[in-house]
Amino acid sequence: MNQRVTLDTPAIEARPFQVFTHRQLDKIAPLEKLPESVRFEIQVVSQVLPFRVNTYVIDELIDWDRAPEDPVFQLIFPQKGMLHPEDYEALAGLIRDQAAAETIKSCVSAIRARMNPHPAGQKDLNLPLLDGQPLAGMQHKYQETVLFFPSQGQVCHSYCTFCFRWAQFIGDKDLKFAANEADNLHRYLAEHTEVTDLLLTGGDPMVMKAKHLRMYLEGLLKPELAHVRNLRIGSKSLTFWPYRFVTDEDSQEILQLFRELVAAGKHVAFMAHFNHWQEMDTPVCREAIRRIRATGAEIRTQAPLLRHINDDADQWAKMWQMQVQLGMIPYYLFVERDTGAQHYFEVPLVRCWEIYRDAMKQVPGLCRTARGPSMSAEPGKVEIQGVTEIKGEKVFVLRFIQGRNPDWVQRPFFARYDDQATWLHQLKPAFDEPAFFFDAELQAMKMKKQALIAASS
Ligand SMILES: *Cc1c(COP(=O)(O)O)cnc(C)c1O
Repeated sequence: MNQRVTLDTPAIEARPFQVFTHRQLDKIAPLEKLPESVRFEIQVVSQVLPFRVNTYVIDELIDWDRAPEDPVFQLIFPQKGMLHPEDYEALAGLIRDQAAAETIKSCVSAIRARMNPHPAGQKDLNLPLLDGQPLAGMQHKYQETVLFFPSQGQVCHSYCTFCFRWAQFIGDKDLKFAANEADNLHRYLAEHTEVTDLLLTGGDPMVMKAKHLRMYLEGLLKPELAHVRNLRIGSKSLTFWPYRFVTDEDSQEILQLFRELVAAGKHVAFMAHFNHWQEMDTPVCREAIRRIRATGAEIRTQAPLLRHINDDADQWAKMWQMQVQLGMIPYYLFVERDTGAQHYFEVPLVRCWEIYRDAMKQVPGLCRTARGPSMSAEPGKVEIQGVTEIKGEKVFVLRFIQGRNPDWVQRPFFARYDDQATWLHQLKPAFDEPAFFFDAELQAMKMKKQALIAASS
């Protein structure tokens, strides 16, 4: 580890925020050094998967000498393998032949539709109801936590190729979760005193102006929302735009808002998404971390484990150690979800567990707060605790970290060992049991929710 930890403020020069999308690929200078074939592949795949990158990421985070294998390059730039070969060939053919825009568009839509844009029953099963009407822009899956998608926070400073929310960024209105009003949020929370946690997510809420962020968060200080004690902000801005907290025009207002929330007794948890230690290895990122922490907010870290980016135990060990050194708290290691380019990034569950275990073995207890590998699946967050043998049968030992029914939490259960499985729905109950213990109840919950939604419309 070579990072310098210091209490002085390094001089950080402001930088204008400049982004490139798939229409400006030819403006990204370092791409010119890559073979023409690689650039063509990026052009093809970025028709399907959202692509957006800014100059900080290009100049400071990507090791261009190692592209295309560089992990941050893989995290940003669409790759040929992210589409299934027949889809890639069909679309590449149309682009090579300069087919009509309409033809390309319908090919792209068909490919997207096959990429499971909305996994884990998010679209209706998690939908909260206010005055009997479904509330777009929110999800309420676990009793104590509400997810809110502020409408001004529906982009990110860059996009990740593996994002499980990719469908929100391709302009498909039907799939957007954005809410327009802070008012609905506050009313819903006031009616739900079981909610202790609000998780602001997106997109990235930190793309919002300070005044918009304040609009959503300040209202939580009202006495009728005293039960909402913990405010989490899910963000990749420490990776993609740490200037947000250092030199942006309203960065002081952001920090001031955090200070006020903390002073009012709220726990402010900045949930930072880091996939690779390379993302934290710049002076401006360190300075942003220092400033956020100085407000009294905590920074917790989470990320999925991904082939081509971070499927390596030493990388995780190094990343968690750097995070703890910088004052952040490792929180979750996720399994890549069953959506988008999953086939490119997925790692068998057994391998995820081995990597997690091999990383854990190398680090002190302060780093071992990262739970996982965890699948955010339809019934809940399911953790792979390990592989063992029970009475001659090789099994996965699993447990719920979170469940749609809180009573499922922390109950061990067993699945038949499968060295290929990459997601919960591929697992079968062990010991020839007909179903997992939660299956019947989950089915009943789904029926009930569908009936409620049907009744409201
Ligand atoms: C992970 C998650 C949460 C938060 O769960 P914690 O265990 O409290 O971190 C809340 N809602 C949804 C939909 C989630 O996936």
